[in-house]
Amino acid sequence: MRIAIDGPAASGKTTLARLLADSLGFLFVPTGAMYRAVALARIRHLGLEETSINVHKGGRIYLGGEDVTDQLASPELDRMSSQVAMDQDVRAHLVDVQRDLAESTDVVMEGRDIGTVVLPDAELKLYVWADPRERAFRRQRQQGGAVEEVLAAIMQRDERDTTRDASPLRPADDAHVVDTTNLNPQQVLDVALKLVEEYRARKDS
Ligand code: C5P
Repeated sequence: MRIAIDGPAASGKTTLARLLADSLGFLFVPTGAMYRAVALARIRHLGLEETSINVHKGGRIYLGGEDVTDQLASPELDRMSSQVAMDQDVRAHLVDVQRDLAESTDVVMEGRDIGTVVLPDAELKLYVWADPRERAFRRQRQQGGAVEEVLAAIMQRDERDTTRDASPLRPADDAHVVDTTNLNPQQVLDVALKLVEEYRARKDS
């Protein structure tokens, strides 16, 4: 089974995808972290052909043989990742890796273009959304900084992600939209698990 979760920055999609993958025993694939790893490779002056990105159990991200997961959350990589994500060659490279992963195992894959481009035939698609101010508070709690600055950075990234030519962020036509503004992670997980149950009941009937 392939579950696609898309949504804007700090909408709760990574938290949901991790919890859902743990509950179902599926591989958690955080594709935003893969774009962040490409940005980290750029900082290290690696060309795309030398940049090998892989995803291991628990959503751990490997750049070459190194586990770089704990180096990917920073305001610099927030910004740089959405810049490298505009590059069509980078996208083509990562989409191949993402599709290969979904071929070999059940996945919960989260990002911006999973339901629209990477896995258009996914069995279940969610589009996770939250009010920008709430998203800024969430990111500020993780990374610190002034809320107004975090909000401005989020709005800038939303703008880049939704207006770019290559695979812009938008809900797939058949995605279930989940507004997480007033929900805690467990409540969002419950919504998703119910949708999985409904899908399985439909399939078995
Ligand atoms: O989800 P996260 O904030 O880690 O993503 C970092 C950046 O990577 C996003 O702002 C977006 O530009 C890019 N991205 C993308 N397509 C994906 C996942 C992330 O373009 N599937």
